Amino acid sequence: MNNLKENLNNVRSRVDLACRTAGRAPSDVTILAVSKRHSVEKIEALSELGQRSFGENYVQEALAKIGQLREFDLEWHFIGPLQSNKTREAAGHFQWVQSVDREKILRRLSAQRPEGLPPLNVCIQVNIDREPQKSGIMPEHAADLARLCDSLSGLRLRGLMCIPRVGTEEHDPGDSYARMRVLFRELRADGLAVDTLSMGMSADLEAAIHHGSTMVRIGTDLLGPRPATGE
Ligand SMILES: *Cc1c(COP(=O)(O)O)cnc(C)c1O
Repeated sequence: MNNLKENLNNVRSRVDLACRTAGRAPSDVTILAVSKRHSVEKIEALSELGQRSFGENYVQEALAKIGQLREFDLEWHFIGPLQSNKTREAAGHFQWVQSVDREKILRRLSAQRPEGLPPLNVCIQVNIDREPQKSGIMPEHAADLARLCDSLSGLRLRGLMCIPRVGTEEHDPGDSYARMRVLFRELRADGLAVDTLSMGMSADLEAAIHHGSTMVRIGTDLLGPRPATGE
Protein backbone atom coordinates (compact mmCIF):
# COMPACT_ATOMS: atom_id res chain seq x y z
CA MET A 1 0.00 0.00 0.00
CA ASN A 2 3.03 2.27 0.39
CA ASN A 3 3.35 2.49 -3.37
CA LEU A 4 -0.03 4.10 -3.77
CA LYS A 5 1.42 7.57 -3.52
CA GLU A 6 4.19 6.76 -5.97
CA ASN A 7 1.69 5.11 -8.34
CA LEU A 8 -0.60 8.11 -8.26
CA ASN A 9 2.27 10.52 -8.84
CA ASN A 10 3.49 8.40 -11.76
CA VAL A 11 0.09 8.23 -13.41
CA ARG A 12 -0.43 11.97 -12.94
CA SER A 13 2.97 12.65 -14.50
CA ARG A 14 2.16 10.42 -17.46
CA VAL A 15 -1.16 12.22 -17.97
CA ASP A 16 0.54 15.63 -17.69
CA LEU A 17 3.23 14.71 -20.18
CA ALA A 18 0.76 13.16 -22.62
CA CYS A 19 -1.39 16.29 -22.43
CA ARG A 20 1.52 18.60 -22.96
CA THR A 21 2.75 16.52 -25.90
CA ALA A 22 -0.72 16.71 -27.43
CA GLY A 23 -0.98 20.46 -26.82
CA ARG A 24 -3.78 19.96 -24.30
CA ALA A 25 -4.26 21.16 -20.73
CA PRO A 26 -3.75 18.46 -18.06
CA SER A 27 -6.98 19.67 -16.46
CA ASP A 28 -8.83 18.37 -19.56
CA VAL A 29 -8.24 14.77 -18.49
CA THR A 30 -9.76 13.12 -15.42
CA ILE A 31 -8.14 10.07 -13.87
CA LEU A 32 -10.69 7.42 -12.92
CA ALA A 33 -9.23 4.87 -10.48
CA VAL A 34 -10.58 1.42 -11.37
CA SER A 35 -10.91 -0.33 -8.03
CA LYS A 36 -12.66 -3.59 -8.97
CA ARG A 37 -11.56 -6.45 -6.71
CA HIS A 38 -9.43 -4.10 -4.61
CA SER A 39 -10.16 -3.57 -0.92
CA VAL A 40 -11.96 -0.66 0.69
CA GLU A 41 -8.76 0.02 2.65
CA LYS A 42 -6.87 0.65 -0.58
CA ILE A 43 -9.63 2.85 -1.94
CA GLU A 44 -9.68 4.83 1.28
CA ALA A 45 -5.89 5.26 1.19
CA LEU A 46 -5.99 6.44 -2.42
CA SER A 47 -8.81 8.86 -1.61
CA GLU A 48 -6.71 10.34 1.16
CA LEU A 49 -4.06 11.10 -1.46
CA GLY A 50 -6.62 13.18 -3.33
CA GLN A 51 -8.16 10.68 -5.75
CA ARG A 52 -11.93 11.22 -5.88
CA SER A 53 -13.36 9.23 -8.81
CA PHE A 54 -13.53 5.45 -8.69
CA GLY A 55 -14.76 2.89 -11.22
CA GLU A 56 -16.31 -0.48 -10.41
CA ASN A 57 -17.42 -3.38 -12.61
CA TYR A 58 -19.69 -5.49 -10.41
CA VAL A 59 -22.81 -4.00 -8.85
CA GLN A 60 -22.90 -6.12 -5.68
CA GLU A 61 -19.23 -5.60 -4.91
CA ALA A 62 -19.55 -1.88 -5.56
CA LEU A 63 -22.62 -1.37 -3.35
CA ALA A 64 -20.78 -2.82 -0.38
CA LYS A 65 -17.83 -0.50 -0.95
CA ILE A 66 -19.98 2.57 -1.58
CA GLY A 67 -21.75 1.91 1.70
CA GLN A 68 -18.54 1.47 3.66
CA LEU A 69 -16.93 4.56 2.16
CA ARG A 70 -19.95 6.87 2.36
CA GLU A 71 -18.21 9.46 4.57
CA PHE A 72 -15.45 10.05 2.00
CA ASP A 73 -17.62 11.83 -0.56
CA LEU A 74 -16.30 9.89 -3.55
CA GLU A 75 -17.68 9.83 -7.09
CA TRP A 76 -18.61 6.32 -8.26
CA HIS A 77 -18.65 5.24 -11.89
CA PHE A 78 -20.12 1.95 -13.05
CA ILE A 79 -18.01 0.63 -15.95
CA GLY A 80 -18.93 -3.08 -16.23
CA PRO A 81 -21.62 -4.96 -18.13
CA LEU A 82 -25.02 -4.00 -16.70
CA GLN A 83 -27.89 -6.51 -16.64
CA SER A 84 -31.43 -5.18 -16.51
CA ASN A 85 -32.07 -6.74 -13.09
CA LYS A 86 -29.28 -4.53 -11.66
CA THR A 87 -30.30 -1.18 -13.13
CA ARG A 88 -32.28 -0.09 -10.07
CA GLU A 89 -29.29 -0.49 -7.79
CA ALA A 90 -26.98 1.16 -10.30
CA ALA A 91 -29.34 4.12 -10.75
CA GLY A 92 -29.66 4.54 -7.00
CA HIS A 93 -26.01 4.41 -5.96
CA PHE A 94 -23.71 5.56 -8.74
CA GLN A 95 -23.12 9.08 -10.04
CA TRP A 96 -22.11 7.73 -13.46
CA VAL A 97 -22.81 4.70 -15.62
CA GLN A 98 -20.32 4.52 -18.50
CA SER A 99 -21.27 1.17 -19.98
CA VAL A 100 -24.74 1.58 -21.50
CA ASP A 101 -25.13 -0.07 -24.88
CA ARG A 102 -28.85 -0.60 -25.36
CA GLU A 103 -32.17 1.20 -25.21
CA LYS A 104 -33.78 -0.98 -22.55
CA ILE A 105 -31.01 -0.22 -20.05
CA LEU A 106 -31.18 3.51 -20.78
CA ARG A 107 -34.94 3.61 -20.20
CA ARG A 108 -34.73 1.64 -16.99
CA LEU A 109 -31.89 3.77 -15.58
CA SER A 110 -33.83 6.93 -16.31
CA ALA A 111 -37.08 5.66 -14.81
CA GLN A 112 -35.31 4.26 -11.75
CA ARG A 113 -33.10 7.24 -10.96
CA PRO A 114 -34.38 8.35 -7.53
CA GLU A 115 -36.20 11.67 -7.25
CA GLY A 116 -34.09 14.18 -5.42
CA LEU A 117 -30.82 13.05 -7.00
CA PRO A 118 -29.38 14.92 -9.98
CA PRO A 119 -29.71 13.12 -13.33
CA LEU A 120 -27.43 10.10 -13.68
CA ASN A 121 -24.36 10.85 -15.83
CA VAL A 122 -24.21 8.42 -18.73
CA CYS A 123 -21.68 7.42 -21.37
CA ILE A 124 -22.64 5.21 -24.29
CA GLN A 125 -20.24 2.28 -24.63
CA VAL A 126 -19.15 1.70 -28.22
CA ASN A 127 -17.82 -1.61 -29.54
CA ILE A 128 -15.37 0.34 -31.64
CA ASP A 129 -13.56 -2.68 -33.08
CA ARG A 130 -16.75 -4.69 -33.70
CA GLU A 131 -15.58 -7.60 -31.58
CA PRO A 132 -18.27 -10.31 -31.35
CA GLN A 133 -17.88 -11.14 -27.65
CA LYS A 134 -17.49 -7.56 -26.47
CA SER A 135 -20.09 -5.22 -24.95
CA GLY A 136 -20.87 -1.92 -26.62
CA ILE A 137 -23.13 -0.71 -29.37
CA MET A 138 -21.90 -0.83 -32.97
CA PRO A 139 -20.38 2.53 -33.99
CA GLU A 140 -23.03 3.31 -36.61
CA HIS A 141 -25.80 3.07 -33.99
CA ALA A 142 -24.10 5.08 -31.25
CA ALA A 143 -25.54 8.47 -32.26
CA ASP A 144 -29.15 7.24 -32.10
CA LEU A 145 -28.63 5.81 -28.64
CA ALA A 146 -26.92 9.02 -27.52
CA ARG A 147 -29.87 11.09 -28.75
CA LEU A 148 -32.29 8.85 -26.88
CA CYS A 149 -30.18 9.23 -23.73
CA ASP A 150 -30.22 12.98 -24.15
CA SER A 151 -34.03 12.94 -24.25
CA LEU A 152 -34.56 11.02 -20.99
CA SER A 153 -35.19 13.18 -17.93
CA GLY A 154 -33.44 10.93 -15.40
CA LEU A 155 -30.20 10.93 -17.36
CA ARG A 156 -27.53 13.37 -18.42
CA LEU A 157 -25.68 12.32 -21.55
CA ARG A 158 -21.95 12.94 -21.01
CA GLY A 159 -20.31 11.16 -23.92
CA LEU A 160 -18.78 7.91 -25.16
CA MET A 161 -16.70 5.11 -23.71
CA CYS A 162 -14.79 2.25 -25.33
CA ILE A 163 -12.50 -0.68 -24.63
CA PRO A 164 -10.56 -1.23 -27.86
CA ARG A 165 -9.19 -4.49 -29.21
CA VAL A 166 -5.98 -5.48 -27.46
CA GLY A 167 -2.96 -4.02 -29.22
CA THR A 168 -0.94 -6.38 -31.43
CA GLU A 169 1.42 -6.10 -34.39
CA GLU A 170 -1.60 -5.87 -36.70
CA HIS A 171 -3.75 -3.68 -34.52
CA ASP A 172 -2.81 -0.32 -33.07
CA PRO A 173 -5.39 0.81 -30.46
CA GLY A 174 -4.55 4.35 -31.56
CA ASP A 175 -6.61 3.64 -34.71
CA SER A 176 -9.60 2.71 -32.54
CA TYR A 177 -9.18 5.83 -30.44
CA ALA A 178 -9.01 7.98 -33.56
CA ARG A 179 -12.34 6.52 -34.75
CA MET A 180 -13.87 7.20 -31.33
CA ARG A 181 -12.85 10.81 -31.60
CA VAL A 182 -14.58 11.11 -34.97
CA LEU A 183 -17.81 9.71 -33.46
CA PHE A 184 -17.53 12.06 -30.50
CA ARG A 185 -17.07 15.08 -32.77
CA GLU A 186 -20.10 14.01 -34.80
CA LEU A 187 -22.25 14.04 -31.66
CA ARG A 188 -21.09 17.55 -30.91
CA ALA A 189 -21.68 18.68 -34.47
CA ASP A 190 -25.18 17.28 -34.03
CA GLY A 191 -25.76 19.66 -31.14
CA LEU A 192 -25.39 17.21 -28.24
CA ALA A 193 -23.61 18.74 -25.23
CA VAL A 194 -21.15 15.91 -24.67
CA ASP A 195 -17.94 16.54 -22.74
CA THR A 196 -16.58 13.09 -21.95
CA LEU A 197 -14.60 10.68 -24.09
CA SER A 198 -13.70 7.85 -21.73
CA MET A 199 -10.83 5.83 -23.16
CA GLY A 200 -7.34 4.69 -22.23
CA MET A 201 -6.20 2.27 -19.54
CA SER A 202 -2.91 1.57 -17.77
CA ALA A 203 -1.07 0.33 -20.85
CA ASP A 204 -2.14 2.96 -23.37
CA LEU A 205 -3.31 6.14 -21.69
CA GLU A 206 -0.82 8.15 -23.78
CA ALA A 207 -2.33 7.01 -27.10
CA ALA A 208 -5.83 7.70 -25.81
CA ILE A 209 -4.95 11.23 -24.68
CA HIS A 210 -3.25 11.85 -28.00
CA HIS A 211 -6.60 11.06 -29.66
CA GLY A 212 -8.73 13.25 -27.42
CA SER A 213 -9.56 11.17 -24.33
CA THR A 214 -10.96 13.25 -21.46
CA MET A 215 -11.07 10.40 -18.95
CA VAL A 216 -8.55 7.60 -18.52
CA ARG A 217 -9.57 4.54 -16.51
CA ILE A 218 -6.58 3.24 -14.59
CA GLY A 219 -6.58 0.07 -12.52
CA THR A 220 -3.29 -1.82 -12.42
CA ASP A 221 -0.90 1.14 -12.56
CA LEU A 222 -2.65 2.82 -9.63
CA LEU A 223 -3.73 -0.03 -7.38
CA GLY A 224 -1.43 -2.85 -8.46
CA PRO A 225 -2.37 -6.25 -9.86
CA ARG A 226 -5.93 -7.31 -9.08
CA PRO A 227 -6.37 -10.13 -6.58
CA ALA A 228 -7.28 -13.25 -8.58
CA THR A 229 -10.43 -14.22 -6.79
CA GLY A 230 -13.04 -11.57 -7.23
CA GLU A 231 -16.56 -10.60 -6.37
C1 LIG B 1 -10.48 -3.18 -15.43
C2 LIG B 1 -10.85 -2.07 -16.33
C3 LIG B 1 -9.99 -0.97 -16.53
C4 LIG B 1 -8.61 -0.84 -15.92
O1 LIG B 1 -7.68 -1.65 -16.57
P1 LIG B 1 -6.12 -1.59 -16.21
O2 LIG B 1 -5.48 -2.20 -17.40
O3 LIG B 1 -5.93 -2.40 -14.96
O4 LIG B 1 -5.74 -0.18 -16.02
C5 LIG B 1 -10.46 0.07 -17.32
N1 LIG B 1 -11.67 0.03 -17.90
C6 LIG B 1 -12.52 -1.00 -17.73
C7 LIG B 1 -13.86 -0.98 -18.39
C8 LIG B 1 -12.14 -2.09 -16.95
O5 LIG B 1 -12.98 -3.13 -16.80
